[in-house]
Amino acid sequence: MLSKLTTSAQTRQWPGHIPVEYVYTAGIAGEAFLRALKDRGMLLTSQCPQCQTVYLPARLYCEQCFEETKQYEEIAPKGWVHTYTVAHVDIDGEALAVPQIYAFIRFGGTNGGLIHRLGQTQPHQVSIGMEVEALLLPGKERTGSINDITCFQPTK
Ligand SMILES: [Zn+2]
Repeated sequence: MLSKLTTSAQTRQWPGHIPVEYVYTAGIAGEAFLRALKDRGMLLTSQCPQCQTVYLPARLYCEQCFEETKQYEEIAPKGWVHTYTVAHVDIDGEALAVPQIYAFIRFGGTNGGLIHRLGQTQPHQVSIGMEVEALLLPGKERTGSINDITCFQPTK
């Protein structure tokens, strides 16, 4: 016998647990990007054969012309601050003991960039266009995560 629910108060619930497991992947190009970072400390780009756009991080297809990007190239993790912000509270709204700088880093000849922490500097020392380089974890400590980059820091 079926009955139609007319209000949300008529819904029922059964407490319990359903075993569900998820495996999230970074995708083909994303995995290649993270592997290059983990294994060689380099940033992987991909280039569209149609419009020549170079993507960083590497992506499988060009977002402009939908061509498969088959040409991959590694570049050194050195770029410049495109824009930045200074956080004074954490994700829960609690005051940080030390303000954290987050920046969008761009890299020469590429479309895209990385958002990451800026370290080894103070908020008043940061400027748009400031040259920065990645501070990487030692090779054996890298896990294939964007956090294999500890932060970006000003070039010396
Ligand atoms: Zn293209």
